[in-house]
Amino acid sequence: MVKYLPMKTQPSVEKLHKFFSLEAQRGYDNGAVMGGLARMLENWEAEARADGIPEEIIRAVSSRLRDYERLSPASRAEVLRGLWQRIQRSLALPAEMALPSEGGAGAKAPARSTAAPAAAQAKAKPTSPPSPSQRATPQATATTARTPHAPAASASPPVAPLPLEAFQKPVTVVPDVGPRRAKTLARLGITTLEDLLYHFPRRYDDYSLCKPIRQLRYGEQVTVVGTVEKIVVRQLHGGKRQMVEAFVGDGSATLRVTWFNQTWIADRLRKGMAVALAGKVDQYLGRLVLNNPEWEPLDEEQLSTKRIVPVYPLTAKITQRWMRRLMHQVVSQWAPRMPDPLPPAIRTAAGLPDLPTALQQIHFPTSWDDLHAAQRRLAFDEVFLLQLGVLRQREAWRQRTARTFTVDDAWLEAQMSRLPFTLTRAQRRALEDIRQDLASGHPMNRLLQGDVGSGKTVVAALAMGMVVKAGSQAALMAPTAILAEQHYRTLRRLLAEESGLLGEGQIRLLVGNTPAAERREILAGLAAGEVKVLVGTHALLEEPVQFADLQLAVIDEQHRFGVRQRARLRAKGEHTHILVMTATPIPRSLALTIYGDLDLTVMDEMPPGRQPVGTYLLMPRERERAYRLIRREIEAGHQAFIIYPLIEPSEALENTPAAVPAYQRLQEEVFPDLQIGLLHGKMKPDEKDAIMARFRDGAFQILVSTPVVEVGVDVPNATVMLIEGANRFGLAQLHQFRGRVGRGGHQAYCILIPETENAAEENERLRALVETNDGFVLAEKDLQQRGPGEFFGTRQSGFGFTRLRMANLLDVHLIEQARNLSQQVIAQDATLEHPEHRLLAQRLEAFWAEGQGEMS
Ligand code: ADP
Ligand code: MG
Repeated sequence: MVKYLPMKTQPSVEKLHKFFSLEAQRGYDNGAVMGGLARMLENWEAEARADGIPEEIIRAVSSRLRDYERLSPASRAEVLRGLWQRIQRSLALPAEMALPSEGGAGAKAPARSTAAPAAAQAKAKPTSPPSPSQRATPQATATTARTPHAPAASASPPVAPLPLEAFQKPVTVVPDVGPRRAKTLARLGITTLEDLLYHFPRRYDDYSLCKPIRQLRYGEQVTVVGTVEKIVVRQLHGGKRQMVEAFVGDGSATLRVTWFNQTWIADRLRKGMAVALAGKVDQYLGRLVLNNPEWEPLDEEQLSTKRIVPVYPLTAKITQRWMRRLMHQVVSQWAPRMPDPLPPAIRTAAGLPDLPTALQQIHFPTSWDDLHAAQRRLAFDEVFLLQLGVLRQREAWRQRTARTFTVDDAWLEAQMSRLPFTLTRAQRRALEDIRQDLASGHPMNRLLQGDVGSGKTVVAALAMGMVVKAGSQAALMAPTAILAEQHYRTLRRLLAEESGLLGEGQIRLLVGNTPAAERREILAGLAAGEVKVLVGTHALLEEPVQFADLQLAVIDEQHRFGVRQRARLRAKGEHTHILVMTATPIPRSLALTIYGDLDLTVMDEMPPGRQPVGTYLLMPRERERAYRLIRREIEAGHQAFIIYPLIEPSEALENTPAAVPAYQRLQEEVFPDLQIGLLHGKMKPDEKDAIMARFRDGAFQILVSTPVVEVGVDVPNATVMLIEGANRFGLAQLHQFRGRVGRGGHQAYCILIPETENAAEENERLRALVETNDGFVLAEKDLQQRGPGEFFGTRQSGFGFTRLRMANLLDVHLIEQARNLSQQVIAQDATLEHPEHRLLAQRLEAFWAEGQGEMS
């Protein structure tokens, strides 16, 4: 059984000790408390409950003291001593806290007869720091070393762990779970014992923070714990309404509690039952009451041994109470036998509790500190396994050999001198990283991360130049046809026209609507090795696309692709060098975690001369100002985007503006003299490309669009980005929109208009965008606000995120620690064959099984 072991004596116990001692010194005259010892009970019970003193002790104290005055001094002595011994034993109080012998003579000397039993003393020991001699012997350290918060629960003698398979048994091995219950549990995703142990509480209620009823104040939100003293159902308004009325007392006072039209509560609550009530303190006829509070029956055990009570995610047909009992049973029986896959050395290095302790504490914490230690341990496990998986992947990758491509400085300088601009330092560094990768003899596997407009394309182009110079093939894949076309033009200019590396026809574009004849010609050229550079969309991944010698694959806006697509492109060559590019500024902690298998280059510098986009937050009633700005910019020869969250209006989102009706209104009422284009996701890819191309070529002055324009097409002439319903978008996404303007060297503007004026908090969030142009800062904020799943959208959610239940990806410290330690493991034993790593390898398999094939 889990016993509560106090780190320091609770005030209510101190008080008891003080009065009992005084009473002993006075010779048991019932004079230690004015009016008799029973008087102290009034407040003491509630205090003791708040201190988490076991209910049975509270009862014992109150029943003994209530009759105390009627006893003879001799009987009083016996009662108090007996009571105190029991308390000492039960709470494992230190021996010094014995009662003094009577008469005051030996008041300070501990009474021999009442010394705490040896067992209690032994139990109390781990709370004191180990003596220096203990610390000196490695043996002692190994067995007694604990985290500072190691809970009492782990003091129980260790039991031999079971093999991992034992935890794969179905939940029906638990006595209380039959086939019906098993079915219900399955709805929570629980089918095995392990699932149960890893079904973590969604929150905890801390009954130690309860207030005694006597101290309640009108209007406050409280949790009260007490015993039902009386319960009745009353008929109101001639039987039209029913009211359950209960009186709940905690020793300090009694509180009237009512529920309307919930007569079933009267069947569930019985006199004498311990309950927890939560609600707002109200007043009725001058007395404090609770109306329709949330309530929960409490087990005595729950109250006494677990002051912090778990609250589980539930499903229909399962009550919190049942779940808790089940978990208690399962955790006490199975958690101690869970094998710990973390080698002790790692656990020690990271300062983590062992797995059985963590599992016990995550469900039934003895204190908040123990709970946090458990959470940390379980979060560590997730990140550690994630890292171990990626690092093993990376290691496997590094073992492979790849074709070597070297270029000399003179060649590189010549290429750069042909550009119409000077590369930024960040671009040069990125190029140097890539150059080294290509010369390393191992496949490059690099992520190039740079904010919108930082100039990633030219870096990719030069990398492709290094490969085609040696006669091999390179491919570049982009998420949309229009973007692929834009890249195609850039590459043709850089690699064919300007540098003469390639002839006309050696660089080709392949998209969904490439005519069949042309497609055949391209495919033949590729297979024959005549076509050296292929630019395109997903069309590149199709089966008939076969390269003669694909050595470098570049993926632009990689977050737009699933990981599987990346793997498919890579598989078009053998040990192909891979360069993935993204403008999503991934916070460092996240990059370390999910892209641990990639080398990372960050381009943190913008080409010179870029003016930051002026960003403004306007309220809906100020919309006219935005229109005036648009008109002014168009008169100066520029263009504007107007973004809407929806295509068509939605009943569910009645305040959210939609593109189609807005387009009509803008065209008819606001800008009747201008050409406006409409772009949205329901259009066919060709249609979208055609509209986008016309906007780029200046046929439209305004483009009304849904978020489909997010991804990197260059319209250098566009200087206004107006975003309606801005509160509907994540910060990182808004930042992407903003990056679509201001690419031509003119001052550009980004205007955010939220749906309503009243959403102060939402509008505050948008202000982050006004304040900073730094995509990393925004991404970090976004991740905090929305969590990694949404941050990446569904495409990338296969990345083991589903397995991350505890881990907070913003906890950079934890992530770096896990990364360092997993690196050490991989460095020593990359294949995890060492016996010490056997369990770890097993766990790793299971962990990655869910996201299988997701890593590339
Ligand atoms: P992104 O990193 O968002 O893909 P691009 O590669 O599309 O950015 O570059 C954005 C614009 O900046 C392009 O018009 C490109 O020609 C230009 N550019 C790139 N590098 C430089 C540079 N060093 N100096 C000036 N302009 C540059
Ligand atoms: Mg780009």
